[in-house]
Amino acid sequence: MTPPSTPGGEIRISAPLLGLISDAAEAAFPAECCGLLAGHGNHTAGFVVTRVIPSDNVAETDHHDSFEVDPQIRFDLMRELGEIGDGPKSDERMIGHYHSHPNHPSEPSARDLAKAFEPDLVWVIVGVKTGKTDKITAHILHPQDTTFQEIPLLEEARTAYPADLEDS
Ligand SMILES: [Zn+2]
Repeated sequence: MTPPSTPGGEIRISAPLLGLISDAAEAAFPAECCGLLAGHGNHTAGFVVTRVIPSDNVAETDHHDSFEVDPQIRFDLMRELGEIGDGPKSDERMIGHYHSHPNHPSEPSARDLAKAFEPDLVWVIVGVKTGKTDKITAHILHPQDTTFQEIPLLEEARTAYPADLEDS
């Protein structure tokens, strides 16, 4: 998978937030971890992650090769961000989610593709090798066909602010 050539189509995340995801992936090993990502941006402007919201893996099948974010966690986040319900709209929104691949590369699996029905969401995948985070990648669903496309994941030393997007 090659990253898109259009500028800005990346996802930026601060080192502490990326650390949270990496730690969750290692703690869950050899099962898969999962959670949600709140932030700003879109496919063309790129994304900035402002918050990582961990979830229990509530998949009914084997947690070693499948994941499912707790629907209550998702509901609560979307209501808090004003994406559902009558609450005030936040400038953040749910931009994606993350999960881990224990002892598998951080490439989307066939199972992931089968579950990818929300083209707006970024998929962050953590490859975990014998309990240690190996590689973290980000993917979006290619709008024209049903394949994933990897996008650059940029780790930033500090927390990103909304203004960063306007500067880029
Ligand atoms: Zn997966």
